[in-house]
Amino acid sequence: MTTVVERLQGESPKFSVEFLPPRDAEDEKVLWKAVRELEGLDPAFVSITYGAGGSRRDRTIRATGRIAQETTLLPVAHLTAVDHSVAELRNVIGWYAAIGVRNVLALRGDPPGDPMGEWVAHPEGLNYADELVALVRELGDFCVGVAAFPYGHPRSPDLDTDLKFLLRKLNAGADYAVAQLFHAPEPFLRLRDRVAAAGCSAAILPGIMPMLSPRGLAKIVELSGADLPVEISRRLEPYADDVASFRAEGIDIATEMCQRLLDEGVPALHFYTMNRAKATREVLSRLGLVTRA
Ligand SMILES: Cc1cc2nc3c(=O)[nH]c(=O)nc-3n(C[C@H](O)[C@H](O)[C@H](O)COP(=O)(O)OP(=O)(O)OC[C@H]3O[C@@H](n4cnc5c(N)ncnc54)[C@H](O)[C@@H]3O)c2cc1C
Repeated sequence: MTTVVERLQGESPKFSVEFLPPRDAEDEKVLWKAVRELEGLDPAFVSITYGAGGSRRDRTIRATGRIAQETTLLPVAHLTAVDHSVAELRNVIGWYAAIGVRNVLALRGDPPGDPMGEWVAHPEGLNYADELVALVRELGDFCVGVAAFPYGHPRSPDLDTDLKFLLRKLNAGADYAVAQLFHAPEPFLRLRDRVAAAGCSAAILPGIMPMLSPRGLAKIVELSGADLPVEISRRLEPYADDVASFRAEGIDIATEMCQRLLDEGVPALHFYTMNRAKATREVLSRLGLVTRA
């Protein structure tokens, strides 16, 4: 199977998409509609997040397997260390290998129920993502990605410490990183440049999620860990009660930011899709990266 690194090669900018594991049969239909709509646009890869526990995890594994076996897409399986012994992690990784999935995004994960709660490692498990990177690497010929945080991970005391641990993951054998959501290009570009200045050539992909509604915007702000820049608030505020205009402005803002990132030479844009294809298609079409929206 092709690797993410291979798919990112070449001069032309690429894009990739992220999906969530479906919660039920209805959700599964929504996911597969988006998968099929985006398949024709030839994303570099599609990644599927790893559920916080139990059945959600089985659905991640099933959806990843289906994408590997029933589509032309390159799946990247997310995996977290949450509530897993090393033996269990080995099992999941082995299962991915058995169905031909060779691309893994290695994450530490958060305490279930409360992302900022106390982190308690499984007694026979791992503490940090760099250990999972090393484990995946040890188990086979995998291409491994990790998470990066343009505003710093919420648990990191400062950006220097955050960079140190990102470099540790990359030096443990990760091939690339995907960034958490951000609202303005500068913090992402600074992080990318600091990684390069530290002598690391791994690609850092920007994570993009257009602001489509006031509720979606609140989620983006929460996940990014940073306040919205004043100029973006000013652009969106007038449309707080006008769903269509809010969405249109959100697509404009995302397109402008993506264009700036492409001008700055990012190899690919990674879209957090929430299992819907429309906004991603619109932004890609506006950027001229696909011919039909
Ligand atoms: C692109 C992306 C995809 C994601 N996908 C998922 C998913 O599928 N499922 C899910 O549950 N969550 C997912 N997350 C959320 C992620 O699991 C959380 O943000 C988690 O808190 C951090 O994971 P990490 O892999 O960055 O952890 P780590 O890199 O281990 O970092 C965790 C914290 O510990 C610090 N740290 C790292 N190494 C050390 C060390 N050796 N010593 C001391 N401190 C250290 C870091 O600075 C950071 O503050 C995703 C996040 C991103 C950005």
